[in-house]
Amino acid sequence: MSAPCYIDTHAHVQLADFDLDRSEVIARWQSAGVCLVIVPGVDIPTSALAVHLARTTPGIRAAIGVHPDDCTDAVPDFVDHLSKLAEDCGETIVAIGEIGLDFKDGMPDHRQQETVFRRQLELALALGLPVIVHSRFATGACLDALCAYPGIRGVMHCFGGSVDELARAVDMGLYVSFTGSVTFPAANNARAALQACPVEHLLLETDAPYLAPIPLRGRRNEPAFIAHVYHAASLLKGVQEEVLCRQLQHNAAALFTETGRETHARQENVQDCPRTEVV
Ligand SMILES: [Zn+2]
Repeated sequence: MSAPCYIDTHAHVQLADFDLDRSEVIARWQSAGVCLVIVPGVDIPTSALAVHLARTTPGIRAAIGVHPDDCTDAVPDFVDHLSKLAEDCGETIVAIGEIGLDFKDGMPDHRQQETVFRRQLELALALGLPVIVHSRFATGACLDALCAYPGIRGVMHCFGGSVDELARAVDMGLYVSFTGSVTFPAANNARAALQACPVEHLLLETDAPYLAPIPLRGRRNEPAFIAHVYHAASLLKGVQEEVLCRQLQHNAAALFTETGRETHARQENVQDCPRTEVV
């Protein structure tokens, strides 16, 4: 049996949570068989840090973007900052993210979130990059927004929507990513969505430093722990872990690499939005 090649499609290892032991964290994921980690920004400084890590560490790629929680603090010319980063460091940036909508109580004004989200969807289209979408209590609204940008590609990260919303995302050609929350006893909805997700549209992630999977729940999460998420997903899907590893490598390459982008660009009707009635 060949060694596993796990891909963590969402880990914020540029955050201060990892400042004291980042090199040990990287060494641990390398020896655990994690061959690629995608590091999304949540604002301009953390996007720049993600790019810096990607430029200096093998096996890391960056995503740049402004998170809905950070949209009130975003500088007015945030799109220019993101464009400049993309222009200077194009080879290490594989997506615009994480961006999206978060309608939890206490989050910024919904209209302001929508504006910041849509400006970044426009940027992603202009740069030919996929998007990494955060949605909390806002899956339908995120899908509605994405539908307004034909040709947009991306992944619904840490999916928290219903099985119907999952079907709509898949119909739109999107990928859907799940975290270690699928190991939590109360997370029946996430498990149901993962089971309903075709493996061709599936991705997995840690969302480190958050959401450490059982049996490590409560600890700071890190990419080396992704093996627990793969294990849980392979049991829920009834797919051998080795087969799942290969499929998810293929999926990540299709979404995040140049070759994948070219392949996608040749496909027509991928961004079809036939189910806009679902909210
Ligand atoms: Zn995140």
